[in-house]
Amino acid sequence: MNLLSLFNRPIRELKGVGEKRAKLFAKIGAPSIGALLRLYPRAYEDLSHPCSIREAPLDEPCAIRATVYRAPSETRIRGGMLLCKLRVTDGASDMEITFFNNPYVKDRLSEGETYLFYGKVHSNFLKREMLAPEFYPIGSYPAICPIYRQTQGLSSRIISNAVRNAFLLLPQKLRDPIPEPLRLQYGLCPLRTALEHIHFPDTMEQLRAARYRLIFEELLVLQLGLLRMKTREKEENRLRLTQDCTEAFFQLLPFTPTQAQKRAVREALEDMRGGHPMNRLVQGDVGSGKTAVAAALCYCVVENGMQAALMAPTEILARQHFDSLSAMLAPTGISVALLTGSTPAAQKRKLTEQLQSGEIRFVIGTHALLSEGVVFQKLGLVVTDEQHRFGVAQRAALASKGDNPHLLVMSATPIPRTLALMIYGDLDLSILDELPPGRQKIETYAIDSAKRPRAFRFLQQHIADGQQCYIICPMIDESDSDMASVTQYAEKLRTEWMPHCRIGLLHGRMKAKEKEAVMGDFAAGRIDVLVSTTVVEVGVDVPNATVMLIENAERYGLSQLHQLRGRVGRGTQQSTCILVSDAQNEEALTRLSVMCRTSNGFEIADEDLKLRGPGDFFGSRQHGLPDMKIADMAQDMETLKQAQEAARGILAQDFTLEKPEHRGLRAEINQLFQTLAGG
Ligand code: ADP
Ligand code: MG
Repeated sequence: MNLLSLFNRPIRELKGVGEKRAKLFAKIGAPSIGALLRLYPRAYEDLSHPCSIREAPLDEPCAIRATVYRAPSETRIRGGMLLCKLRVTDGASDMEITFFNNPYVKDRLSEGETYLFYGKVHSNFLKREMLAPEFYPIGSYPAICPIYRQTQGLSSRIISNAVRNAFLLLPQKLRDPIPEPLRLQYGLCPLRTALEHIHFPDTMEQLRAARYRLIFEELLVLQLGLLRMKTREKEENRLRLTQDCTEAFFQLLPFTPTQAQKRAVREALEDMRGGHPMNRLVQGDVGSGKTAVAAALCYCVVENGMQAALMAPTEILARQHFDSLSAMLAPTGISVALLTGSTPAAQKRKLTEQLQSGEIRFVIGTHALLSEGVVFQKLGLVVTDEQHRFGVAQRAALASKGDNPHLLVMSATPIPRTLALMIYGDLDLSILDELPPGRQKIETYAIDSAKRPRAFRFLQQHIADGQQCYIICPMIDESDSDMASVTQYAEKLRTEWMPHCRIGLLHGRMKAKEKEAVMGDFAAGRIDVLVSTTVVEVGVDVPNATVMLIENAERYGLSQLHQLRGRVGRGTQQSTCILVSDAQNEEALTRLSVMCRTSNGFEIADEDLKLRGPGDFFGSRQHGLPDMKIADMAQDMETLKQAQEAARGILAQDFTLEKPEHRGLRAEINQLFQTLAGG
């Protein structure tokens, strides 16, 4: 039997789980017996080394063996809360224990009996106390006790009992998706052992071995799934480009493309003229000119008689691409269409007809492009901009709208190359490592809030010169008093701080139409200062904006600060970024000083990696990979490398995973990526 088959057995089949509990189990991610076994504890209580009350460390969890010497007494306090207090002793000293709203405690703890209490000890004047500890009668607790993510009505104890019952249904001979030779090679324990020891370890060593095995397995399945997306590499290219029209396109541009832009275009063209569909990631720092690369390729595809689609993560970006690309392509007579969530139904209907008939050959849009009604006559190329906002699944969904169209993915998040290869295992990589000429370094300063008035004067001077500014604030309303809020901030600017300037406001809770109107006004120069949350982070391009002031700059990670700063310095004028922060902690100060020192995105990414580890790059928002149950790609880099090596080895001898020993892995891959496609 294999574990996946237990995913078809509803949790209700377990003893003690009725309809109501089943719902709660579903809520915590365990609608089936299989899912429950794969629901690993989030922490463990080490009950194997109890300490005395006197020696107990303060404010960190520990186990104490003690005898109840004053029976629990209940009182009700204001608000109806039930307090239950008792005193315990370990023979040498005593402490007080308090439970809140737990009517069962009274009956489960008896005077004169000894228990093991697990919780945090606080010191309150001269007495020590424990609040709401876990407790176990002596002799009835495991050495290491699993703690599950609980929910109202479903305690860790209930979950742990259910897991025990689930094990009764698990045959000793559980099929292991990882073939034995691989287990031996990497020192991985069998699946059945790993599951037992992740839920109920007897020793820390057992737990460690179980974790390693399960993390390895999870990462192996992920890497296999990603690498297998390269199957497209094996497919035939039925959308072969025959003519190279890029020179003609470059002639249309108001500037000369950089060497890096030309190289990226050439690499992509070679792919599209080759034997297999293209799968390429273009990584380029903010302002490196990715749009022109995409435009050149879309133009070529259209000139070769096919259709091209460009998908952006927000309406603002989609519209901006639409505006600049329609302008670029105007002399060619190619008509560009825009399709977003706010396209009126009638217009959308007409547009989809024109896409289906092939009348429209180039469409730009948002997720709306993925909707079912959108059908292409002959989709040759799909471009997704700002890839970190899109998941693998969305990419796949758009690709499925054609007959294996070419895929180009653009990202402005500079990721160290080694990480990129691991995250985007399925993509080839082009790097735009050169900025267009004439760009000046963005002067960057970190100041404390006392210097804000001076900064405002600086902004106003630039506005007097006809330039524009961004001010970035973290929050929308004054919900958090410390934090500058966009709405209030904008109001202050209007009435007090800069009454002579035209102030605009932009935040994520505005309607798409409103946002567009504001962005339009800013781009057209009708707004001097745009006060905004981080919605301007991605891709927005207003070359006349030369000063950016970021409030509470300590709140942002390096990569995000870099993205934000990239909104200025887009024209030929000297630009400035002012980071306002009163933060004192060292990590924040280091971050700000890195920002002042360099504007090279790849250097900043490396610093970020050093400061915070790879976690940020792997955050699921950034890459859209499936959620991991146990692996933490930031912590488990070494295992990730091993898993990738193992995955390559397996695929090298059995790419389709058809050999009997690989079927288990194939099923696990389907399971992992299927949940992703559904989500
Ligand atoms: P990003 O890579 O961040 O998407 P964009 O494509 O938005 O960058 O380009 C940033 C700005 O640089 C735009 O105003 C664009 O017109 C301009 N630009 C792009 N390539 C060049 C070039 N080779 N020479 C001069 N300006 C360029
Ligand atoms: Mg861009």
